[in-house]
Order: sequence, then C-alpha cells, then structure tokens
Amino acid sequence: MNIPFLDLNKQYLSIKSEIDAAIQAVIDKSAFVGGPFVEQFERAFAAYCGVSHCVGVANGTDALLVTFKSLNIGAGDEIIVPANSFIASSETVTHAGARVVFADIDPETYNLDVTKLEAKITSRTKAIVAVHLYGRPADMDPILEIARRHRLYVIEDAAQAHGATYKGRPIGSLGDAACFSFYPGKNLGAYGDGGAIVTNDAKLADHARMLANHGRIDKYNHGIEGLNSRLDGLQAAVLSVKLKHLPKWNELRRQHARRYSELLRGSVTTPVETPGYVPVYHLYIIRIEADLREDLRVFLQQRGIATGIHYPIALPNLSAYAYLKHGATDFPEATTASGQILSLPMFPEMVDEQLTYVADAVAEFVASKIKVKAS
Ligand SMILES: *Cc1c(COP(=O)(O)O)cnc(C)c1O
Repeated sequence: MNIPFLDLNKQYLSIKSEIDAAIQAVIDKSAFVGGPFVEQFERAFAAYCGVSHCVGVANGTDALLVTFKSLNIGAGDEIIVPANSFIASSETVTHAGARVVFADIDPETYNLDVTKLEAKITSRTKAIVAVHLYGRPADMDPILEIARRHRLYVIEDAAQAHGATYKGRPIGSLGDAACFSFYPGKNLGAYGDGGAIVTNDAKLADHARMLANHGRIDKYNHGIEGLNSRLDGLQAAVLSVKLKHLPKWNELRRQHARRYSELLRGSVTTPVETPGYVPVYHLYIIRIEADLREDLRVFLQQRGIATGIHYPIALPNLSAYAYLKHGATDFPEATTASGQILSLPMFPEMVDEQLTYVADAVAEFVASKIKVKAS
C-alpha cells in the first residue's frame, strides 16, 4: 500500500465544487490583490482566532518579519526562539535587525522548556517567540508570566497550530500577536503561499498593514518604507472555503493521532497529551533510538510509507547559525531530539486501514530489532 505523507488532492476532490466556484468568483471580479475576498477572509479568520484584527500577508515568514518590525524590534535587540523549529521562526529575527537567542526545548512536548527561558533574558531582550510546534500549544501561561515580569512581547508562531486551543482559549489570541502560515501543507493551507498576523492591538495591526503594503498611507503617499507582502484574492477565497471545514479536519487529525498512539503503545515514544492543551496534530511525531531511525525510515519506505523529519538539525546546529558559535552540548534536548524524531503520515483524509498499516509496520520493525538485541 502506498501512503503519502499528506494528500492535498484527496482534500481538493472532497470540496472541489466549492473551491472551483470560489476561484471563478475572484477571476470574475478581477479581485486579485487585496479587495473583498481578502477582507472577508480576514474578518472570518480574526473571529476564528478570537481576536479583533487579522492582516493578511504573503506568507508566514513575512508575518513574523512584519510583526517584529511593527513592534519596533531591531538593531541592538534580542528575541528568544526555541531551538527546535522551522528556520522561519529565527531567520526573521535577524532580518528585522535583531539577534536570535535560542532556548532549549522540553523533551516530551518538543516546545520551549519554560524552566530554561529566564536564564536567556538579558537587558536587550524584547520578545519571546512561542512556537506551537507540530500543532501542540506552547506552555503559554508560564511564558506570558515571565514575559510580563520582564516586560517582553510574546509573539506566537502559530504556523502549525490553526485551531488549537490552550485552556479553552484559541491559539492566536494569547500573545501580543500571532503569526500564521497558509502554506499548502499547513492545517489551513492555501493553493500557493499565504500568511496572516492576528492581534487585539489595533495600532499594531494598522502598522503591520501599512508596512506590508509599501508603507502606504494612500496610493502614492508613503508614510514609511515598507515591503510588498500581501495576501492575494485567489488564496483568500480558497482559505475562506477551507476555514469552514477546518474544525472537522482538525478533529479528524486528533482522532487519527489517538488511533496511532493506541496502536503504537509499547513500540515507540508517542506524543504526550496534556489536559487543557488541545493540539491539532499538524505533524504526528514518534521517537526511537537514534541508531534505529534511519533503518526505520527505509523500512517504512520499502512498505510504501512516506515519512518526514521535523527537523533533522536543531536550529542552533545549522550552518546558518555557525556565527553564534554554539557547541553540540548547548541545547542537549533539541540536539538529541533531532536525531530521534520521525514524522508519520498525518492528514484528515486518512482512513483506518492506512493508520493501522503504518502502525503495524512500525511495530513490526521495532519487534524485529528487539529480537536482534535479545539474541
Ligand atoms: C511553515 C512555518 C513558518 C513559515 O511559513 P511560510 O508560509 O512557509 O513562510 C514559520 N514557522 C513555522 C513553525 C512553520 O512551520
């Protein structure tokens, strides 16, 4: 059986008539950049996140960059970023002109270890990037408490967590601002690039909107030097259609994760669930000894099962961050995890036959290794 890592075509076919009509409506109105489809999506997505403002931008990376710049963070400032994330969480800090300061992760949740956070704060620290990695909410209350005490901004990197909730509150409504990506493979994915900043801060939203649109006050009057980072109408129309289906899709992801965890119990380490944290399983991560991971990957590949590694090199260990001169022991948890984690196929349209096929293959591999070790 061939099991892809995700199946965007299967999702499209399930909503084809709605999507096709939405795309045609944008073309009929030539509402390609900005316009009514973008405005409609921004309103719907702000409501979904439980906030008052949503600013559509070109992608999730720009959402972070525009947010940092709108908060006036730049040269001489530091921003704390978890050592385990996609590079967009940290490269945007540098592009804003500030310095990246990495903090290690909790080995069970793979998110920021809040007990190691305060040691990273200096007089130059301006913000903490709380990444809700894999769709699991970060430990927001302690992060917000530390931030309040040190007068720091908290920016949620919610690129993998559309629809997750933390103690009953939607992800995206917890920090000073939250940044979303609508890259096609994300839980809420466009048919191209897209992103958004959501916030309750009207001034921040206004500034971000101006910055992302050439610093415009009106057509050819520019209050500041900005950039061109706008959500386009076609993407917004697709996103409006898909947003209506997102709660159901996220619930299916949670069901699939529960099923995987049930089937994999005793074979490999499966994701932890914590009361009050409602994840959306953008990714389903298992953990296995480092010397077995590559063999498992190949074994699954031979069975037709696609896997991923998110991420194979912890951010501080990337060549891109050689300039920070970190050693391999500076972020022990992120470094160890990067050698042991494996992402299994996860998408709402998966069926039980696929879930059991994947889990059985993993269990079979692990059992064969235990036998080898015992003999
Ligand atoms: C995808 C992603 C981003 C960047 O989003 P793009 O839309 O691809 O620019 C940022 N942070 C995290 C954690 C992501 O997974």
